[in-house]
Amino acid sequence: MATKWWGWGEEQRTFSLPDSSQFWAHVSSRLGELGVGQRIESLAEVTLPPSRLEAKALDALRAAAGAESLTTDTADRAVHSLGKSYCDLVRIRRGEIPHATDAVIYPETEEQVAALLNAAAELGIAVIPFGGGTSVLGGVEPLGAKPTVTLDLRRMNRMLRLNPLAATATLEAGILGPSLEQQLNANGFTLGHFPQSFEYSSLGGWIATRSAGQNSTLYGKIEHRVESLRMAFPGGTIATPAVPAAAAGPDLNQIIAGSEGVLGVITQATVRLAPLPRRCDYRGYLFPAFQPGVEAAREVMQSGLRPAVLRLSDEPETQVNLATRAPPQGLKAAVERLGTWYLERRGIHLDAASLMIIGFEGAEDQVRSDWRRAQPILRRHQGASLGRSPGRAWERSRFELPYLRDVLIDHAIMVDTLETATTWDRYLPLYHSVRDVIAKAMGGGGLVMAHLSHAYTDGASLYYTFLARQAEGRELEQWQQVKAAATEAILAAGGALSHHHGIGSDHQPWLSQYLGPAGVRTLAGLKQTFDPQGIMNPGKLMAADKDTSDV
Ligand SMILES: Cc1cc2nc3c(=O)[nH]c(=O)nc-3n(C[C@H](O)[C@H](O)[C@H](O)COP(=O)(O)OP(=O)(O)OC[C@H]3O[C@@H](n4cnc5c(N)ncnc54)[C@H](O)[C@@H]3O)c2cc1C
Repeated sequence: MATKWWGWGEEQRTFSLPDSSQFWAHVSSRLGELGVGQRIESLAEVTLPPSRLEAKALDALRAAAGAESLTTDTADRAVHSLGKSYCDLVRIRRGEIPHATDAVIYPETEEQVAALLNAAAELGIAVIPFGGGTSVLGGVEPLGAKPTVTLDLRRMNRMLRLNPLAATATLEAGILGPSLEQQLNANGFTLGHFPQSFEYSSLGGWIATRSAGQNSTLYGKIEHRVESLRMAFPGGTIATPAVPAAAAGPDLNQIIAGSEGVLGVITQATVRLAPLPRRCDYRGYLFPAFQPGVEAAREVMQSGLRPAVLRLSDEPETQVNLATRAPPQGLKAAVERLGTWYLERRGIHLDAASLMIIGFEGAEDQVRSDWRRAQPILRRHQGASLGRSPGRAWERSRFELPYLRDVLIDHAIMVDTLETATTWDRYLPLYHSVRDVIAKAMGGGGLVMAHLSHAYTDGASLYYTFLARQAEGRELEQWQQVKAAATEAILAAGGALSHHHGIGSDHQPWLSQYLGPAGVRTLAGLKQTFDPQGIMNPGKLMAADKDTSDV
């Protein structure tokens, strides 16, 4: 099935709103009259500069990876030159690809990757590893001055070994989420990693960006599930030992996780698995406001419970949730059944409420006992149970929301997300200050909503979604203004520069402020060790040719 070059997912698939009038009424009430976003008809309208790779270079690359594996076709180059961020979609919809890759190569083995990197180093060609291309921070855009090849790893998609005794699997890095889970599930296991981009993102991309899945509160972020990995870099290959734990200096897995293709190409990884849960019991709870929900989430985590899913929407996001669901199933049906009168008696008003989806999974008796322990905590913080239907509705639609983003951009709406994490003591102050800063940067006429979706004993993530009418002709500047203001506010309030999207090029201007001079020097030292010529993904994570003598 063909995928959309101008949006998310399969070409034929779109977001179907069960009650679209209610949703659009809600959006228009906040954003005003909506417009029509511009979009070129087809990629044939895109003109790219000719590939800068000379015949000698093309021959050397073909010799490394096979003649059939390389293409300089315009459409292939175009879709590999951008990721899937809001700005990427705005640009590709206009047919604007400011930095085009010069060739796309589809290697099939680690040997080919190693040979390609050696050839590229010899010829001074930059290399961008490309997993699913779902980066939202400019991670796959060619930014250096050198001619560039993009290594699309999706042909490296095999499960190489399953170790049932250790509950681990070794997989090639280009495997996408659905294929990975299908093969593990057939053997009674799961990786438990379900980012919203699950259907189109790859194992290698997850590790390279330190991705978090929607069930990370139980299973951890992807870096917690890596037992060992292999990475090819210009001039060599590094393989980390496959052991459960070690005290042999700094953890090399953790040095490579999050390296965003600037050190080398992760070719395979051995990951820790969990048994397929026998029971998943996800439920909805409504709180009078975001704050008591946050308190409940903290107490759940600090009580030792580990929900697989713990998502708490703030009041504006809960409003949108209510506007996008329709009877007879889902959240709205449950709310209606429960009765507004009953909720109001408990101090919960629907126009100010905060929705939590919380679920436990695992063995039958474990899930029952987890729920017995969780219920009194949720009740103590004024949570009212909505039963299982909101949980089921969330599960059904968990990969659908990116399709809604396309529909919103079609209506000339700026829609993007950004995320951070902080400790519980700073959580609500950060939440309020960043929300206010985003609203102000949008000129007061937009919609800002947020949720907590990855929780820890010491704190949690915060994920903002913001919508405003596009400033026609100034779409990218408008976005840049919001992004810069929000990032400054996150850092000022003690948040992580990113909890799970990574750094890419978008967050790079703030990296030295976030890590400090010694932190930046440490990363520069790693870059020098693995990629002294600076050919690996220039301009991402850290500036490839940055003179670090002053830091
Ligand atoms: C709609 C949408 C929803 C999303 N939801 C989530 C979410 O829930 N959680 C989350 O964590 N992220 C999410 N993301 C962000 C993105 O999906 C993740 O960053 C994901 O991990 C990227 O994987 P990928 O295979 O697409 O990597 P790519 O986009 O191809 O690459 C990302 C970066 O990793 C590098 N890279 C890729 N493969 C390798 C490799 N094998 N070796 C070395 N470097 C490599 C690339 O060079 C690039 O710098 C979402 C993105 C979108 C568009």
